[in-house]
Amino acid sequence: MPRYFRVHGLELAGALLVVLCAAWFFAGLTHTYAHPVIGWVPLPVGAALAGIACLRAARDQRLDAGTRRFWRHLSVASAFFTAGSVSNAVDAVGGAMPSQRIGPVTVALYLAVLGLVIWALLRLPSWQRSRADWIRFGLDACMVLVTLGALVWHLSLRDHDRWMAQTGSAGPMLAIMLSAFVGVATFVKVGFAGAGRLDRQAIHILAVGASIAASLGGMSPFISDYVHLSSSLLAVPVAALTINLAAARQWSNGDRTPATRRVSQRISVLPYAAVAITDVLLLSTGTGDATETTTMQIAAVVLTALVVVRQILALRDNQRLVDELRDYQTKLTHQATHDSLTGLANRSRMEQHLAQLLGERGRFHVALLDLDDFKTVNDRLGHHVGDLLIGVTGRRLTEVVGGRGSVSRLGGDEFTIVIPDGGDVEVLLRKVIRAVGAPAELAGHTVVTAASVGVTTTRPGDVPAELLRRADVAMYAAKNAGGNAWHWFDAAMDRAADAEARLAAELRRAPAEGQLTVLYQPIVTLPGGSPIGAEVLLRWRHPEHGLLGPDAFIPLAENNGSIVEIGDWVLREAVRQSVDWRRRLGDRAPGRISVNVSARQLEDPHFVDRVAALLTGNDVEPDRLMLEVTETAVLAADLAVAQLHRLKALGVRIALDDFGTGHSSLSLLLDCPVDVLKVDKSFVSGATAGQAGEIIVRNLIGFTSDFAIDAVAEGVETEAQAAQLSEAGYQFAQGYLFGRPMTAAALEDLFTNRVPTGAAAA
Ligand code: C2E
Ligand code: MG
Ligand code: MG
Repeated sequence: MPRYFRVHGLELAGALLVVLCAAWFFAGLTHTYAHPVIGWVPLPVGAALAGIACLRAARDQRLDAGTRRFWRHLSVASAFFTAGSVSNAVDAVGGAMPSQRIGPVTVALYLAVLGLVIWALLRLPSWQRSRADWIRFGLDACMVLVTLGALVWHLSLRDHDRWMAQTGSAGPMLAIMLSAFVGVATFVKVGFAGAGRLDRQAIHILAVGASIAASLGGMSPFISDYVHLSSSLLAVPVAALTINLAAARQWSNGDRTPATRRVSQRISVLPYAAVAITDVLLLSTGTGDATETTTMQIAAVVLTALVVVRQILALRDNQRLVDELRDYQTKLTHQATHDSLTGLANRSRMEQHLAQLLGERGRFHVALLDLDDFKTVNDRLGHHVGDLLIGVTGRRLTEVVGGRGSVSRLGGDEFTIVIPDGGDVEVLLRKVIRAVGAPAELAGHTVVTAASVGVTTTRPGDVPAELLRRADVAMYAAKNAGGNAWHWFDAAMDRAADAEARLAAELRRAPAEGQLTVLYQPIVTLPGGSPIGAEVLLRWRHPEHGLLGPDAFIPLAENNGSIVEIGDWVLREAVRQSVDWRRRLGDRAPGRISVNVSARQLEDPHFVDRVAALLTGNDVEPDRLMLEVTETAVLAADLAVAQLHRLKALGVRIALDDFGTGHSSLSLLLDCPVDVLKVDKSFVSGATAGQAGEIIVRNLIGFTSDFAIDAVAEGVETEAQAAQLSEAGYQFAQGYLFGRPMTAAALEDLFTNRVPTGAAAA
């Protein structure tokens, strides 16, 4: 445990000297000494000891430079103190008769000591260094000084005539006042401005010591009858001892970081305490002595002035603080209501604005703008360029719209424009689309973008969310129509969107409610048309809308993610049926079952594991299952190619569905482990059929044979098509000619009876 301070020889000696001096002094009140010089001997000794203690602290390498400098100053002060006490002794006992006179040299030396101490204190590092802090410190110090002055005056100095006669000059008075000042200023300084890494207890010891020394010095008038004594005999050793103790405290504590100071209070109790003390003094002053009353009155007036200035400063400080707070708050509000990227109002600000306009009941329009290919810009050129594009778009919008509306950023690449009724909205929107679509130079890239805008007009009873929703629906309509355009909202869009949302919700429950079912469409060999397998095709038996084909709901399921669960159901159903056929029909069972898989399913990292578990769990040979994926799905899903390789490794067969309708990148065939190419029906019986389709169909078959890939022609509807395909080299086909999608039972008949079953369609 660190002791308050370790007692060493130096401090012990200092304390002993004080005891000796006190004994000598008090004994002197009843005795007259024959050799009064003896009483003076301890004084320079004590001061010299203090100097040594300070020197020791000044040389302590653990301390920082500022602290060491302080103690160096104090050791110099102690040297002057030693000299001063010798000079004081010479004044007192050097003459023929003992005297209480204090000579000018002594006064000069003592004042030098005090000056040095004050200088050392002022040079201490502070926590606060602003001019205002120093003014506050100065005012506090002056207040303390005036109060103390009044006190000292009241207690002893009022007899200054006698004092002057006794000591021969006003100097000692000044010295005493100064030491009092040192004591209190030290407290003030440490309490209000801090003292860097200097030991605070050391500073407090010094402060107390200076105050005691000042009080002892102020006792002079009471001992004017004892010419062989002097107040210095007590004041000097006490002052020396406190310097000694303070240095020892610093030395024994080293550089332990001083406790962190409280934040300075801007309104302190000091002014009130000062006023109270002076008032008490003023009241206790007898009315008889005019000089004394005047002095006290002057002190009170000066003090009042100081306190007033001090409080005005505090008020101004507080005002400044309040102003700073208000500025800060304004900034915060701006941040909360504005977008940092574009400086435009943000969503919450815009909604507030809408609510306010709706409250005023005027008609206005809200346009919602969304960039058409922002994601591509972000992905291809990076987020930095994406951010720049948003910034440019914000600026362009502000420029074009000008005073004709207010622009805000909803988030992402979405902006809104609130347009008051009256002007030509369509002219404005045309300009907006043109401005946003202009090429922009961004970080060395020429970026061309386009925007889709949905716009709607207020209706009675509108709320901001409803307005934005309508604008959003219209914006999507614009986007679906190819983008780079604006669409007014109309109710049909709403009904379509509503119906879609309801259907999507119902679809989530469809598997659990047993509303899903599958049909099977035979896959046959050419030219004979004998069935060898079947494709599983999903249907939804909707309670209201009847039997729905996949085109009516698969896109919804892909959008809301329920396709993963639905797809799993289809796979389980297909495997179950296959196992059942195999068990009952043996060799006559459909050899291969084909199941469609969408991009979302391929993206699911556990998809392959589930397929594997399904196959092993039902003891199905993997090559009896074929999974059909579209080119678009493979290109869209990040993991797709890797997943297909894993599936391939399981032994499952892979078919590339609807080939020719997507990007038709033949290079995909090199990356993907494809077993079967399903040539899309559009080339066989659909829109592209005819001469162009024929060429494609013929070329593809040559290509597949090069890669050892089977080709299945989809959508074969007529005998002529079948003949043509067969002639071109196709060995497999699928289409209404051979069988529409049918129930499991119908397919079973087809396989067991070998009857052509165009009539068995569902
Ligand atoms: P797809 O895989 O290309 O399936 C073939 C589609 O062509 C089926 O339509 C089928 O009925 C139709 N079709 C067959 N022969 C002919 C023909 O001779 N002429 C014409 N015009 N059409 C013919 P469906 O059943 O409506 O399925 C449409 C699409 O829905 C499928 O196209 C497939 O991509 C998707 N799909 C079906 N079931 C599922 C499923 O379980 N999961 C997933 N993810 N998608 C499925
Ligand atoms: Mg298919
Ligand atoms: Mg297909």
